[in-house]
Amino acid sequence: MTSMNPVLVKPIHSALLSWYDQHGRHDLPWQVDKSPYPVWISEIMLQQTQVTTVIPYYQRFISTFPCVESLAAAPIDEVLHLWTGLGYYARARNLHKAAQQVVEVYQGIFPETLEALQTLPGIGRSTAAAILSICHQQPTAILDGNVKRVLARYHAIETWTGETATQKQLWELAEYHTPEKRAGDYTQAIMDLGATICRRSKPSCLLCPLEESCQALAKGLTDKIPSPKPKKTAPLKSVTLTILCNSAGEVYLQKRPPSGIWGGLWSLPEQQSLNQEGILLPEQPNLVMPSFIHTFSHFRLQITPEVYFLDDLQQHEFQDSSGIMEATDAVWYNIAQPKQALGLAAPIKKLLDQFANKDINQETP
Ligand code: SF4
Repeated sequence: MTSMNPVLVKPIHSALLSWYDQHGRHDLPWQVDKSPYPVWISEIMLQQTQVTTVIPYYQRFISTFPCVESLAAAPIDEVLHLWTGLGYYARARNLHKAAQQVVEVYQGIFPETLEALQTLPGIGRSTAAAILSICHQQPTAILDGNVKRVLARYHAIETWTGETATQKQLWELAEYHTPEKRAGDYTQAIMDLGATICRRSKPSCLLCPLEESCQALAKGLTDKIPSPKPKKTAPLKSVTLTILCNSAGEVYLQKRPPSGIWGGLWSLPEQQSLNQEGILLPEQPNLVMPSFIHTFSHFRLQITPEVYFLDDLQQHEFQDSSGIMEATDAVWYNIAQPKQALGLAAPIKKLLDQFANKDINQETP
């Protein structure tokens, strides 16, 4: 992780506040009355939703529920109806529950500490800090998606911002940069900068008040930061599949159990399962085909196909040990001219096609 001692970096608040005074957004509907109820509603609506989308929803919501008491007393269906189209409906349900708690526990007055605000449903550390800084000028740091992006770029933090250690580092930086005075304006300023200048794609660095000291810009990393969530590599398992081929060119297939991978499909037997069934194979395979990896949703399977060519005597012995003549869940399958249509797992079909097309015969070393 790129690490930077915050005390060595000049706080950004002076440059940001000067920019905000000139270029920030000052006339959004929730900026008219900077009291906790409207600020809270707007903060919740703005989570995962852009300002232009939020404005008409906010206006309808506030005119229907002008105070926390009216929201608390409303039927949940009416709240959800006004939320229709905004998505993430848990936000609306939490708003309703939190309004009821504010009325019942706090007599309709929002608490004024980070700790108490965070006990309300749907209010996390950043939302609580936004309410306290905007409504009460408390120097509480916020860290929403916009702020994460600005700080990660400004400090050239290249690790994924969702990582625990990176989150901790970003919170420390957010606190470091939040000023004692004009905390509410600073909160609005850094959110505005993230939304309008330091956008996710193609940030307008030439217009940015932080241009001179931004580390991502200096290092040419603005399009690499914030880095996307790393993809998890699925665990790798391995299996050896047995291609038993008789003198008629048929291959021995077994039906998979109904549940589990390839459930109910026909597959090549695993060596392990043959051993468990007491089926005797020659000691060495005639051929080991190249391994390949098949990807399932939760793991990758490395498949190594081993080929055994059975002569008539060996096939006899094999049938004696496997009881194949009576078995209904096993079949000798002619790849070139199948007598019946069998449901084959895709990689098994591919493997059998490869086996057939290689024109492998018993002389193959
Ligand atoms: S200079 Fe560019 S990348 Fe850096 S904070 Fe400003 S807009 Fe974002």
